[in-house]
Amino acid sequence: MTFKSLGLSDALLKAISKKGYTEPSTIQEKAIPKILEGKDVLASAQTGSGKTAGFALPILHLLQNKTSLRKRPVRTLVLTPTRELAAQVGQEFKDYSEFTDLKTTVVFGGVGANPQIKALRNGVDILVATPGRLLDLHEQKVFSLASVEVLVLDEADRMLDMGFLRDIKRVFALLPNKRQNLLFSATFSKDIKKLANTFLHQPVLVEA
Ligand code: AMP
Repeated sequence: MTFKSLGLSDALLKAISKKGYTEPSTIQEKAIPKILEGKDVLASAQTGSGKTAGFALPILHLLQNKTSLRKRPVRTLVLTPTRELAAQVGQEFKDYSEFTDLKTTVVFGGVGANPQIKALRNGVDILVATPGRLLDLHEQKVFSLASVEVLVLDEADRMLDMGFLRDIKRVFALLPNKRQNLLFSATFSKDIKKLANTFLHQPVLVEA
């Protein structure tokens, strides 16, 4: 299996080869085609499995192929439990989109909000965020989530462990109903399954 045979765009293939990846990991092989088909995905994946590229690459491909008429509304929202993970995921989106004109911004708490507000006001295609800061900035009407086409919950089990369920539900209420949903989690407790049932539509199950 090669990245090219997964059908990814030349711009993405160029970035992948610049990163030095020679072949897709198991989770990438399984998840990328399903995400490209527009399916909701429930993925069981550990850190180190290559899960981030497993969702970032097909999302970038889909966004590249569907141009937005409006001025860069947020079209993909990735929620992560921690600022470290948000920064890491944001950096991967930036690396993989180097040869596209797609823009990624990361927002998380514990640092000043002004640079984040400025970046959001300039327009962004992909927003990677921790739930609390996202809701704070949304309340300040810095951006809208009404044009989100793809939602990712990354490390969903850690998000629940950290008590983000209420925040996550508040975020869901800000999103359009018609969208693609991806849930990545290392473990599958009863609570994760319940969460998955509330917002995934006929999800494809993917395991690394
Ligand atoms: P993750 O599981 O997303 O945290 O990824 C773990 C690490 O694997 C990251 O540093 C990625 O840059 C790297 N990686 C992701 N996909 C591949 C691949 N197909 N080949 C080699 N390294 C990869």
